[in-house]
Amino acid sequence: MRNRLKSLLGLPDALEGMEQLASSAQWRINEWCAEFSDPHTEAGYQQHCQHFTARQLLLALGTWVVLILLFGIPDYLAMGWSAPFQGLLAMRVGVALCVLALMRAVLRNPLMATRGRWTTVVEFIGLASFMLVYVLRPEIAMWTYALTLLMLIMLFVFVPNRLCNALAVAVAGALLTLAMVGQSRSLQTRELVVLSLVLALPIVTGYVSAWRVQMLQRQQYALLMAARANNAQLRQEVEQRSALQEALRIQASIDPLTGLNNRREYEKLFAREMARARREGRAMSLVMLDLDHFKHVNDDHGHAAGDEVLRRVAQLCRENFREVDIAGRLGGEEFVVLMPHTALREAGEVARRFLQVLSDTEIAFEGLRLRVQATAGVAELQAHEDHLETLLQRADHALYAGKQTGRNRVMLALPDGQVQHYQGGAMAPTEPGV
Ligand code: GH3
Ligand code: MG
Ligand code: MG
Repeated sequence: MRNRLKSLLGLPDALEGMEQLASSAQWRINEWCAEFSDPHTEAGYQQHCQHFTARQLLLALGTWVVLILLFGIPDYLAMGWSAPFQGLLAMRVGVALCVLALMRAVLRNPLMATRGRWTTVVEFIGLASFMLVYVLRPEIAMWTYALTLLMLIMLFVFVPNRLCNALAVAVAGALLTLAMVGQSRSLQTRELVVLSLVLALPIVTGYVSAWRVQMLQRQQYALLMAARANNAQLRQEVEQRSALQEALRIQASIDPLTGLNNRREYEKLFAREMARARREGRAMSLVMLDLDHFKHVNDDHGHAAGDEVLRRVAQLCRENFREVDIAGRLGGEEFVVLMPHTALREAGEVARRFLQVLSDTEIAFEGLRLRVQATAGVAELQAHEDHLETLLQRADHALYAGKQTGRNRVMLALPDGQVQHYQGGAMAPTEPGV
Protein backbone atom coordinates (compact mmCIF):
# COMPACT_ATOMS: atom_id res chain seq x y z
CA MET A 1 0.00 0.00 0.00
CA ARG A 2 2.76 2.38 1.07
CA ASN A 3 4.86 1.49 -1.96
CA ARG A 4 1.87 1.89 -4.22
CA LEU A 5 1.26 5.37 -2.85
CA LYS A 6 4.92 6.19 -3.34
CA SER A 7 4.89 5.03 -6.95
CA LEU A 8 1.67 7.00 -7.53
CA LEU A 9 3.48 10.08 -6.28
CA GLY A 10 6.20 9.38 -8.80
CA LEU A 11 8.90 8.58 -6.28
CA PRO A 12 11.07 5.81 -7.67
CA ASP A 13 11.50 3.75 -4.54
CA ALA A 14 14.56 2.24 -6.05
CA LEU A 15 16.85 4.41 -8.06
CA GLU A 16 18.94 1.55 -9.37
CA GLY A 17 20.98 0.17 -6.50
CA MET A 18 19.11 2.18 -3.86
CA GLU A 19 17.28 -0.84 -2.47
CA GLN A 20 20.50 -2.44 -1.24
CA LEU A 21 21.73 0.86 0.17
CA ALA A 22 18.45 1.51 1.98
CA SER A 23 19.00 -1.70 3.94
CA SER A 24 22.00 -0.10 5.65
CA ALA A 25 21.18 2.18 8.60
CA GLN A 26 23.63 4.76 7.30
CA TRP A 27 21.59 5.48 4.18
CA ARG A 28 18.06 5.07 5.53
CA ILE A 29 15.83 8.07 4.82
CA ASN A 30 13.15 9.27 7.22
CA GLU A 31 10.17 9.37 4.92
CA TRP A 32 8.22 12.09 6.72
CA CYS A 33 10.78 14.82 6.58
CA ALA A 34 12.79 13.34 3.66
CA GLU A 35 16.10 13.49 5.53
CA PHE A 36 18.67 10.82 6.37
CA SER A 37 17.84 9.19 9.70
CA ASP A 38 21.52 9.08 10.60
CA PRO A 39 22.56 12.60 11.73
CA HIS A 40 26.13 12.11 10.46
CA THR A 41 24.94 11.16 7.01
CA GLU A 42 22.52 14.10 6.96
CA ALA A 43 25.31 16.47 8.06
CA GLY A 44 27.53 15.05 5.27
CA TYR A 45 24.74 15.60 2.76
CA GLN A 46 24.21 19.20 3.91
CA GLN A 47 27.93 19.85 3.68
CA HIS A 48 27.97 18.34 0.19
CA CYS A 49 25.14 20.53 -1.20
CA GLN A 50 25.72 23.71 0.84
CA HIS A 51 26.86 25.90 -2.07
CA PHE A 52 24.08 24.77 -4.36
CA THR A 53 21.44 25.28 -1.64
CA ALA A 54 22.92 28.66 -0.69
CA ARG A 55 22.69 29.86 -4.31
CA GLN A 56 19.07 28.73 -4.52
CA LEU A 57 18.21 30.42 -1.25
CA LEU A 58 19.90 33.69 -2.25
CA LEU A 59 17.92 33.72 -5.49
CA ALA A 60 14.63 33.09 -3.65
CA LEU A 61 15.38 35.70 -0.97
CA GLY A 62 16.49 38.28 -3.54
CA THR A 63 13.26 37.80 -5.48
CA TRP A 64 11.32 38.12 -2.25
CA VAL A 65 12.95 41.47 -1.41
CA VAL A 66 12.22 42.85 -4.88
CA LEU A 67 8.57 41.71 -4.84
CA ILE A 68 7.81 42.86 -1.32
CA LEU A 69 9.11 46.37 -2.11
CA LEU A 70 7.43 46.48 -5.56
CA PHE A 71 4.04 45.72 -4.03
CA GLY A 72 4.38 49.00 -2.13
CA ILE A 73 3.49 50.80 -5.41
CA PRO A 74 -0.11 49.48 -5.67
CA ASP A 75 -0.43 50.19 -1.93
CA TYR A 76 0.55 53.83 -2.51
CA LEU A 77 -1.75 54.18 -5.53
CA ALA A 78 -4.68 52.89 -3.49
CA MET A 79 -3.96 54.56 -0.13
CA GLY A 80 -1.80 57.62 -0.82
CA TRP A 81 0.66 58.80 1.85
CA SER A 82 -1.76 57.78 4.63
CA ALA A 83 -1.08 56.30 8.06
CA PRO A 84 -2.17 52.74 6.94
CA PHE A 85 0.14 53.03 3.91
CA GLN A 86 3.03 54.05 6.17
CA GLY A 87 2.26 51.08 8.44
CA LEU A 88 2.31 48.71 5.48
CA LEU A 89 5.48 50.32 4.12
CA ALA A 90 7.18 49.91 7.51
CA MET A 91 6.18 46.23 7.45
CA ARG A 92 7.57 45.81 3.92
CA VAL A 93 10.84 47.55 4.74
CA GLY A 94 11.15 45.60 8.02
CA VAL A 95 10.67 42.22 6.31
CA ALA A 96 13.03 43.24 3.46
CA LEU A 97 15.69 44.11 6.05
CA CYS A 98 15.24 40.73 7.78
CA VAL A 99 15.55 38.96 4.44
CA LEU A 100 18.64 41.01 3.51
CA ALA A 101 20.23 40.16 6.86
CA LEU A 102 19.64 36.45 6.16
CA MET A 103 21.15 36.83 2.66
CA ARG A 104 24.26 38.42 4.12
CA ALA A 105 24.64 35.64 6.68
CA VAL A 106 24.19 32.96 3.99
CA LEU A 107 26.80 34.65 1.80
CA ARG A 108 29.25 34.44 4.68
CA ASN A 109 28.34 30.93 5.73
CA PRO A 110 26.69 28.87 2.97
CA LEU A 111 26.13 25.96 5.36
CA MET A 112 23.46 28.10 7.07
CA ALA A 113 21.27 27.67 4.01
CA THR A 114 21.03 23.93 4.62
CA ARG A 115 20.23 24.15 8.34
CA GLY A 116 16.87 25.88 7.79
CA ARG A 117 16.59 27.43 11.25
CA TRP A 118 16.99 31.07 10.22
CA THR A 119 15.20 30.58 6.91
CA THR A 120 12.20 29.36 8.93
CA VAL A 121 12.33 32.33 11.31
CA VAL A 122 12.46 34.84 8.44
CA GLU A 123 9.71 33.01 6.55
CA PHE A 124 7.54 33.14 9.63
CA ILE A 125 8.21 36.86 10.19
CA GLY A 126 7.39 37.49 6.49
CA LEU A 127 4.11 35.57 6.61
CA ALA A 128 3.02 37.06 9.92
CA SER A 129 3.78 40.60 8.68
CA PHE A 130 1.91 39.88 5.48
CA MET A 131 -1.23 39.40 7.59
CA LEU A 132 -1.17 43.18 8.18
CA VAL A 133 -2.45 43.57 4.61
CA TYR A 134 -5.71 41.85 5.65
CA VAL A 135 -6.11 44.37 8.46
CA LEU A 136 -5.05 47.52 6.61
CA ARG A 137 -6.60 46.76 3.21
CA PRO A 138 -9.76 44.70 3.94
CA GLU A 139 -11.25 45.76 0.59
CA ILE A 140 -8.78 43.50 -1.29
CA ALA A 141 -9.01 40.58 1.15
CA MET A 142 -9.81 38.08 -1.61
CA TRP A 143 -6.79 39.20 -3.67
CA THR A 144 -4.64 38.92 -0.60
CA TYR A 145 -6.06 35.46 0.01
CA ALA A 146 -5.15 34.40 -3.56
CA LEU A 147 -1.64 35.75 -3.02
CA THR A 148 -1.41 33.79 0.23
CA LEU A 149 -2.15 30.56 -1.67
CA LEU A 150 0.67 31.36 -4.05
CA MET A 151 3.02 32.11 -1.16
CA LEU A 152 2.16 28.84 0.56
CA ILE A 153 3.19 26.79 -2.46
CA MET A 154 6.32 28.97 -2.93
CA LEU A 155 7.40 28.07 0.61
CA PHE A 156 7.89 24.51 -0.58
CA VAL A 157 9.05 24.80 -4.16
CA PHE A 158 10.98 28.07 -4.35
CA VAL A 159 12.61 28.63 -0.97
CA PRO A 160 15.01 25.82 -0.03
CA ASN A 161 14.25 24.81 3.54
CA ARG A 162 13.96 21.63 5.55
CA LEU A 163 10.69 19.98 4.67
CA CYS A 164 9.30 19.80 8.22
CA ASN A 165 10.14 23.46 8.85
CA ALA A 166 8.46 24.54 5.61
CA LEU A 167 5.41 22.49 6.57
CA ALA A 168 5.24 24.14 10.00
CA VAL A 169 5.50 27.66 8.52
CA ALA A 170 2.87 26.83 5.86
CA VAL A 171 0.39 25.41 8.41
CA ALA A 172 0.93 28.41 10.71
CA GLY A 173 0.47 30.74 7.71
CA ALA A 174 -2.77 28.97 6.74
CA LEU A 175 -4.17 29.24 10.29
CA LEU A 176 -3.22 32.92 10.48
CA THR A 177 -4.90 33.50 7.13
CA LEU A 178 -8.11 31.86 8.32
CA ALA A 179 -8.00 34.03 11.45
CA MET A 180 -7.44 37.18 9.39
CA VAL A 181 -10.21 36.43 6.89
CA GLY A 182 -12.46 35.51 9.84
CA GLN A 183 -11.86 38.79 11.64
CA SER A 184 -12.45 40.88 8.49
CA ARG A 185 -15.97 39.44 8.06
CA SER A 186 -18.00 36.78 9.83
CA LEU A 187 -17.58 33.37 8.16
CA GLN A 188 -20.22 30.67 7.94
CA THR A 189 -19.06 27.16 8.74
CA ARG A 190 -19.46 26.05 5.13
CA GLU A 191 -17.36 28.99 3.93
CA LEU A 192 -14.72 28.22 6.57
CA VAL A 193 -14.50 24.61 5.44
CA VAL A 194 -14.12 25.64 1.80
CA LEU A 195 -11.48 28.24 2.64
CA SER A 196 -9.59 25.68 4.73
CA LEU A 197 -9.70 23.09 1.96
CA VAL A 198 -8.47 25.62 -0.58
CA LEU A 199 -5.62 26.57 1.78
CA ALA A 200 -4.76 22.89 2.27
CA LEU A 201 -4.42 22.39 -1.45
CA PRO A 202 -1.16 24.37 -2.03
CA ILE A 203 0.24 22.96 1.22
CA VAL A 204 -0.31 19.34 0.13
CA THR A 205 0.87 20.02 -3.44
CA GLY A 206 3.92 21.91 -2.24
CA TYR A 207 4.76 19.29 0.39
CA VAL A 208 4.54 16.38 -2.08
CA SER A 209 6.63 18.19 -4.73
CA ALA A 210 9.31 19.21 -2.25
CA TRP A 211 9.23 15.74 -0.68
CA ARG A 212 9.91 14.12 -4.08
CA VAL A 213 12.81 16.45 -4.80
CA GLN A 214 14.34 15.97 -1.34
CA MET A 215 14.01 12.19 -1.49
CA LEU A 216 15.53 11.99 -4.98
CA GLN A 217 18.41 14.28 -4.08
CA ARG A 218 19.25 12.21 -1.03
CA GLN A 219 19.00 8.95 -2.94
CA GLN A 220 21.35 10.33 -5.58
CA TYR A 221 23.75 11.48 -2.87
CA ALA A 222 23.69 8.01 -1.27
CA LEU A 223 24.43 6.38 -4.63
CA LEU A 224 27.21 8.85 -5.37
CA MET A 225 28.86 8.21 -2.00
CA ALA A 226 28.51 4.45 -2.40
CA ALA A 227 30.07 4.65 -5.87
CA ARG A 228 32.95 6.75 -4.50
CA ALA A 229 33.52 4.28 -1.67
CA ASN A 230 33.51 1.40 -4.15
CA ASN A 231 35.99 3.24 -6.37
CA ALA A 232 38.30 3.95 -3.46
CA GLN A 233 38.14 0.30 -2.41
CA LEU A 234 38.82 -0.85 -5.95
CA ARG A 235 41.77 1.53 -6.25
CA GLN A 236 43.15 0.23 -2.97
CA GLU A 237 42.75 -3.36 -4.13
CA VAL A 238 44.51 -2.60 -7.41
CA GLU A 239 47.37 -0.93 -5.51
CA GLN A 240 47.66 -3.88 -3.13
CA ARG A 241 47.63 -6.29 -6.04
CA SER A 242 50.35 -4.48 -7.95
CA ALA A 243 52.46 -4.20 -4.77
CA LEU A 244 52.01 -7.94 -4.29
CA GLN A 245 52.91 -8.62 -7.91
CA GLU A 246 56.01 -6.47 -7.57
CA ALA A 247 56.97 -8.29 -4.36
CA LEU A 248 56.46 -11.64 -6.10
CA ARG A 249 58.47 -10.49 -9.10
CA ILE A 250 61.32 -9.45 -6.81
CA GLN A 251 61.04 -12.66 -4.84
CA ALA A 252 61.20 -14.67 -8.07
CA SER A 253 64.22 -12.82 -9.41
CA ILE A 254 66.36 -11.89 -6.41
CA ASP A 255 68.52 -14.05 -4.17
CA PRO A 256 67.12 -13.31 -0.70
CA LEU A 257 70.45 -13.54 1.14
CA THR A 258 72.51 -11.17 -0.99
CA GLY A 259 69.94 -9.22 -3.00
CA LEU A 260 71.78 -10.14 -6.21
CA ASN A 261 70.04 -11.64 -9.26
CA ASN A 262 69.23 -15.32 -8.84
CA ARG A 263 69.90 -17.92 -11.51
CA ARG A 264 66.47 -17.60 -13.17
CA GLU A 265 66.75 -13.85 -13.52
CA TYR A 266 70.35 -14.20 -14.59
CA GLU A 267 69.41 -16.38 -17.53
CA LYS A 268 66.93 -13.75 -18.67
CA LEU A 269 69.43 -10.92 -18.36
CA PHE A 270 72.12 -12.94 -20.08
CA ALA A 271 69.84 -13.59 -23.09
CA ARG A 272 69.10 -9.87 -23.33
CA GLU A 273 72.78 -8.85 -23.11
CA MET A 274 73.89 -11.56 -25.53
CA ALA A 275 71.36 -10.33 -28.13
CA ARG A 276 72.62 -6.77 -27.68
CA ALA A 277 76.29 -7.82 -27.95
CA ARG A 278 75.50 -9.68 -31.20
CA ARG A 279 73.51 -6.75 -32.58
CA GLU A 280 76.27 -4.28 -31.82
CA GLY A 281 79.08 -6.67 -32.73
CA ARG A 282 80.77 -6.06 -29.37
CA ALA A 283 82.57 -8.34 -26.95
CA MET A 284 81.06 -9.61 -23.72
CA SER A 285 82.77 -11.51 -20.91
CA LEU A 286 81.75 -13.37 -17.80
CA VAL A 287 83.64 -13.66 -14.50
CA MET A 288 82.85 -16.54 -12.19
CA LEU A 289 84.02 -16.16 -8.59
CA ASP A 290 84.25 -18.87 -5.95
CA LEU A 291 85.33 -18.08 -2.39
CA ASP A 292 88.42 -19.99 -1.29
CA HIS A 293 88.05 -22.40 1.63
CA PHE A 294 84.71 -20.90 2.47
CA LYS A 295 83.76 -24.07 4.27
CA HIS A 296 86.27 -23.07 6.98
CA VAL A 297 84.40 -19.82 7.63
CA ASN A 298 81.27 -21.82 8.35
CA ASP A 299 83.09 -24.48 10.31
CA ASP A 300 85.17 -22.05 12.40
CA HIS A 301 82.69 -19.22 13.00
CA GLY A 302 79.27 -20.62 12.23
CA HIS A 303 76.79 -20.41 9.39
CA ALA A 304 75.67 -16.89 10.36
CA ALA A 305 79.24 -15.65 9.90
CA GLY A 306 79.31 -17.40 6.49
CA ASP A 307 76.07 -15.64 5.54
CA GLU A 308 77.48 -12.27 6.56
CA VAL A 309 80.56 -12.91 4.40
CA LEU A 310 78.33 -13.74 1.42
CA ARG A 311 76.35 -10.52 1.97
CA ARG A 312 79.51 -8.41 2.15
CA VAL A 313 80.99 -10.05 -0.99
CA ALA A 314 77.73 -9.22 -2.80
CA GLN A 315 78.01 -5.63 -1.60
CA LEU A 316 81.60 -5.44 -2.82
CA CYS A 317 80.41 -6.72 -6.20
CA ARG A 318 77.85 -3.92 -6.36
CA GLU A 319 80.43 -1.33 -5.37
CA ASN A 320 83.36 -2.44 -7.52
CA PHE A 321 81.87 -3.39 -10.84
CA ARG A 322 80.36 -0.94 -13.32
CA GLU A 323 76.67 -0.23 -13.35
CA VAL A 324 76.22 -2.00 -16.68
CA ASP A 325 77.83 -5.14 -15.27
CA ILE A 326 75.31 -7.69 -14.06
CA ALA A 327 76.15 -9.52 -10.84
CA GLY A 328 74.38 -12.61 -9.61
CA ARG A 329 74.65 -15.46 -7.14
CA LEU A 330 74.11 -18.77 -8.82
CA GLY A 331 74.24 -20.78 -5.59
CA GLY A 332 76.47 -21.53 -2.61
CA GLU A 333 79.47 -19.22 -2.54
CA GLU A 334 79.65 -18.80 -6.29
CA PHE A 335 79.12 -15.38 -7.84
CA VAL A 336 79.04 -14.36 -11.50
CA VAL A 337 79.48 -10.97 -13.11
CA LEU A 338 78.50 -10.43 -16.74
CA MET A 339 80.44 -7.62 -18.38
CA PRO A 340 78.99 -6.14 -21.55
CA HIS A 341 81.40 -4.38 -23.97
CA THR A 342 84.37 -6.14 -22.36
CA ALA A 343 86.95 -8.42 -23.97
CA LEU A 344 88.63 -11.33 -22.15
CA ARG A 345 91.75 -9.58 -20.88
CA GLU A 346 89.93 -6.43 -19.81
CA ALA A 347 87.54 -8.62 -17.81
CA GLY A 348 90.57 -10.45 -16.37
CA GLU A 349 92.03 -7.15 -15.22
CA VAL A 350 88.75 -6.09 -13.58
CA ALA A 351 88.55 -9.49 -11.84
CA ARG A 352 92.16 -9.21 -10.64
CA ARG A 353 91.47 -5.82 -9.09
CA PHE A 354 88.32 -7.15 -7.47
CA LEU A 355 90.17 -10.08 -5.91
CA GLN A 356 92.67 -7.57 -4.54
CA VAL A 357 89.89 -5.47 -3.00
CA LEU A 358 88.29 -8.60 -1.59
CA SER A 359 91.42 -9.89 0.08
CA ASP A 360 92.13 -6.38 1.47
CA THR A 361 88.65 -6.12 2.99
CA GLU A 362 88.03 -6.99 6.61
CA ILE A 363 84.55 -8.32 7.23
CA ALA A 364 83.30 -7.51 10.71
CA PHE A 365 80.99 -10.01 12.34
CA GLU A 366 80.13 -10.12 16.05
CA GLY A 367 83.54 -8.86 17.14
CA LEU A 368 85.40 -10.96 14.56
CA ARG A 369 87.37 -9.53 11.66
CA LEU A 370 87.18 -12.01 8.82
CA ARG A 371 89.12 -12.01 5.58
CA VAL A 372 88.28 -14.10 2.53
CA GLN A 373 89.86 -14.65 -0.83
CA ALA A 374 88.44 -15.98 -4.05
CA THR A 375 89.42 -17.59 -7.31
CA ALA A 376 88.01 -16.25 -10.58
CA GLY A 377 87.45 -17.91 -13.95
CA VAL A 378 86.93 -15.53 -16.90
CA ALA A 379 85.46 -16.42 -20.30
CA GLU A 380 84.54 -14.29 -23.30
CA LEU A 381 81.39 -14.98 -25.34
CA GLN A 382 82.30 -16.76 -28.57
CA ALA A 383 80.51 -16.36 -31.90
CA HIS A 384 79.05 -19.87 -31.75
CA GLU A 385 77.91 -19.62 -28.12
CA ASP A 386 74.17 -19.20 -27.62
CA HIS A 387 73.57 -20.29 -24.05
CA LEU A 388 74.64 -19.07 -20.66
CA GLU A 389 75.40 -22.66 -19.74
CA THR A 390 78.29 -23.11 -22.23
CA LEU A 391 79.88 -19.80 -21.21
CA LEU A 392 79.51 -20.73 -17.53
CA GLN A 393 81.10 -24.13 -18.20
CA ARG A 394 84.17 -22.55 -19.76
CA ALA A 395 84.49 -20.01 -16.92
CA ASP A 396 84.00 -22.83 -14.38
CA HIS A 397 86.64 -24.88 -16.14
CA ALA A 398 89.13 -21.99 -15.80
CA LEU A 399 88.07 -21.49 -12.17
CA TYR A 400 88.68 -25.15 -11.40
CA ALA A 401 92.17 -24.82 -12.89
CA GLY A 402 92.72 -21.83 -10.59
CA LYS A 403 91.66 -23.89 -7.55
CA GLN A 404 94.02 -26.65 -8.64
CA THR A 405 96.98 -24.34 -9.05
CA GLY A 406 96.85 -22.48 -5.76
CA ARG A 407 93.63 -20.36 -5.48
CA ASN A 408 93.30 -16.52 -5.05
CA ARG A 409 93.95 -15.95 -8.73
CA VAL A 410 92.30 -15.05 -12.03
CA MET A 411 92.24 -17.66 -14.78
CA LEU A 412 91.30 -16.86 -18.37
CA ALA A 413 89.46 -19.41 -20.51
CA LEU A 414 91.09 -18.93 -23.91
CA PRO A 415 89.02 -19.51 -27.09
CA ASP A 416 91.12 -22.57 -27.99
CA GLY A 417 90.17 -24.36 -24.74
CA GLN A 418 93.47 -23.55 -22.97
CA VAL A 419 93.49 -21.84 -19.60
CA GLN A 420 95.85 -19.01 -18.64
CA HIS A 421 96.72 -17.47 -15.29
CA TYR A 422 96.16 -13.72 -15.56
CA GLN A 423 98.55 -11.69 -13.40
CA GLY A 424 98.19 -8.19 -14.75
CA GLY A 425 100.57 -6.79 -17.38
CA ALA A 426 102.80 -9.88 -17.68
CA MET A 427 101.19 -13.19 -18.63
CA ALA A 428 102.06 -16.50 -17.10
CA PRO A 429 102.60 -19.42 -19.51
CA THR A 430 99.47 -21.10 -20.76
CA GLU A 431 98.20 -23.97 -18.58
CA PRO A 432 97.12 -27.10 -20.34
CA GLY A 433 93.31 -27.60 -20.80
CA VAL A 434 91.82 -29.71 -18.04
P1 GH3 B 1 87.21 -24.13 -2.26
O1 GH3 B 1 88.32 -23.17 -2.00
O2 GH3 B 1 87.68 -25.38 -2.92
O3 GH3 B 1 86.09 -23.49 -3.01
O4 GH3 B 1 86.69 -24.54 -0.84
P2 GH3 B 1 85.30 -24.28 -0.23
O5 GH3 B 1 85.34 -24.63 1.19
O6 GH3 B 1 84.87 -22.87 -0.50
O7 GH3 B 1 84.40 -25.17 -1.12
P3 GH3 B 1 83.18 -26.10 -0.88
O8 GH3 B 1 82.37 -26.11 -2.14
O9 GH3 B 1 83.63 -27.40 -0.37
O10 GH3 B 1 82.33 -25.44 0.23
C1 GH3 B 1 81.40 -24.48 -0.01
C2 GH3 B 1 80.69 -24.21 1.27
O11 GH3 B 1 79.82 -23.10 1.15
C3 GH3 B 1 79.87 -25.40 1.71
C4 GH3 B 1 78.58 -24.79 2.19
O12 GH3 B 1 78.28 -25.12 3.55
C5 GH3 B 1 78.83 -23.32 2.11
N1 GH3 B 1 77.64 -22.63 1.70
C6 GH3 B 1 76.92 -22.76 0.56
N2 GH3 B 1 75.87 -21.93 0.56
C7 GH3 B 1 75.94 -21.25 1.73
C8 GH3 B 1 75.10 -20.23 2.32
O13 GH3 B 1 74.11 -19.79 1.76
N3 GH3 B 1 75.47 -19.77 3.52
C9 GH3 B 1 76.57 -20.23 4.18
N4 GH3 B 1 76.88 -19.72 5.36
N5 GH3 B 1 77.35 -21.18 3.66
C10 GH3 B 1 77.03 -21.68 2.45
MG1 MG C 1 84.66 -22.20 -2.46
MG1 MG D 1 81.99 -23.65 -4.43
